[in-house]
Amino acid sequence: MNASFRLFSNIFLLYFTTSVGVKCQRNTVVPKKLSNSVKISSLTSSYNDFLDLLNPIAIERVSGSSGNVQVRNYLVSKMKNFGWNVELDSFNANTPYGVKSMSNVIATYPIGKSFYANSNANSKVLNRVVFACHYDSKYFANFKFIAATDSAVPCAMLLDMAKFLSENSNIKDFNKLIRHIQFVFFDGEEAFKEWTSTDSIYGSRNYANKLSNKYGQKSFDSIDLFVLLDLIGGDNTKFPNYFPNVPTSNNAYKILNKIEKALLGAKLLSRQSQFYFTDLQGNGQFYGVEDDHKPFLRKNVPILHLIPSPFPSVWHNQRDTVDNLFPNNIQDLRMIMKYFLMEILNNKEMKPVKAEDEF
Ligand SMILES: [Zn+2]
Repeated sequence: MNASFRLFSNIFLLYFTTSVGVKCQRNTVVPKKLSNSVKISSLTSSYNDFLDLLNPIAIERVSGSSGNVQVRNYLVSKMKNFGWNVELDSFNANTPYGVKSMSNVIATYPIGKSFYANSNANSKVLNRVVFACHYDSKYFANFKFIAATDSAVPCAMLLDMAKFLSENSNIKDFNKLIRHIQFVFFDGEEAFKEWTSTDSIYGSRNYANKLSNKYGQKSFDSIDLFVLLDLIGGDNTKFPNYFPNVPTSNNAYKILNKIEKALLGAKLLSRQSQFYFTDLQGNGQFYGVEDDHKPFLRKNVPILHLIPSPFPSVWHNQRDTVDNLFPNNIQDLRMIMKYFLMEILNNKEMKPVKAEDEF
């Protein structure tokens, strides 16, 4: 890996490009280089800026409750303000506590492209990458569950990425886009009682069914990658490589590994050594985690599951609050994810390729 920096007069405008060694393994695709030139100074922003995005989400927001609607409206208004096309996927879910009204928030970039962007005959046919998280919080009868890592922080990270794009995008020529980006904020991920196939992931199951019924498999085939963020913001955040045998998933994981290295090299991360994305052997494939990616995995969509293992120690207990978050980890991961977003927008190799294709 090379990292080169240029310092322009007194202004700290840092750019770097990285290129990494090429290694082809069977059935995997390793990126030759990070294609994008990223303006480093634009990746950084204060933790207080992040808290401004996070705090309105960090309230009790059980599906079907007024808190849930409040958070949903906030997500809709923020994404619209950032210039995205926003649609609701609303439905009634049969839960152990009766029928609950739920809504997924589907935001598509750039504006003007529909929820079902690839099915509209008049729109330019582009594949898309989906970034997703859930915005509901799990119901606990005996305490108010704020669920900061689960998943208020992931939701705020998506808002942060959208804000970054709105403030820094030089992609004004949408005709040059190689893919759409969709952010999906799922409702009803949590089980009301015990996690079962019918009491969990209400939102993602509904969205996948809707796509399937309306547009069939092609709607899934047009998703280059489905990135799911969950349980982020705690200590000891290590992300396993859960799908090393799926070339696009493995490729995406390796891109994150390169980005982490590049940012470390630029001394921009709080950590002094590589930590977050180090599972290049794909040991994570041995852990199965049930989550919102499952309905898409069943449709053969390449998944990048950004959920740490082990889970944060505050998982599903009342200590999962904003005060108990680890700001340094969040600051690092914000930078990594913004850089990753730029890669997704620019790096054609993210598309699934045959194993024999030479990189
Ligand atoms: Zn949870």
